[in-house]
Amino acid sequence: MAQDTYKHKGLRKQLVNLIRSKGIQDEAVLEAIETVPRHLFMDSSFIAFAYEDKPFPIGSGQTISQPYTVAFQTELLEVKKGDKILEIGTGSGYQACILMEMGGRVYTIERQKNLYLKTKNLLPGLGYKPKLFSYGDGYKGMPNEAPFDKILVTAGAPTLPDDLIDQLKPGGIIVIPVGSGIQNMKRIIKTDEINYIEEDHGTFRFVPLLTRKAND
Ligand code: SAH
Repeated sequence: MAQDTYKHKGLRKQLVNLIRSKGIQDEAVLEAIETVPRHLFMDSSFIAFAYEDKPFPIGSGQTISQPYTVAFQTELLEVKKGDKILEIGTGSGYQACILMEMGGRVYTIERQKNLYLKTKNLLPGLGYKPKLFSYGDGYKGMPNEAPFDKILVTAGAPTLPDDLIDQLKPGGIIVIPVGSGIQNMKRIIKTDEINYIEEDHGTFRFVPLLTRKAND
């Protein structure tokens, strides 16, 4: 397996400084970014780019999100140790590992079989173990495992899915980019069993959430 060297650790410190300067304040988020070796989630030929604050192709037309975006979404999620968290769009597994590093109990789902298999193979060697890693359509959430404290969607959703709101505990939080083309980062806070408040946190650009059967 590829290694995590002092050079990589140094690059991660610089990345954390950059992300901090862009406005991320949650120390636990910054610490997780400093700890998780992002380069090990990318193909070895691209390792040199791993600590630039940019998204990057991971195959199957998908990307590992930009580190700032990962930090921004994670900060909005207000992760507490022991939180039961559903992530939709596992991709490289990087974001899932950030959540696990922060003490989250992570349930994650990926729609594309080749990415699912690749990441399922990768995570144990890095020492990260999701509570559940499943292959399928996350648009409807994970009804069998609900309710969750937190739900994080890492692909652009055309609309806010009711199923996800139903699967959230009262007091829970969903962070989800909503819109086609460009997305609005929405934060949903469930105030009781049926009511919720909706916040807007600026525009981002994500790969679209696949709502039909993927070509695999
Ligand atoms: N969290 C990822 C970012 C992945 S990009 C990371 O840290 O690398 C978004 C991912 O969502 C892609 O891997 C894509 O295949 C997946 N995806 C798209 N539609 C989906 C769906 N309906 N259910 C689950 N995953 C989906």
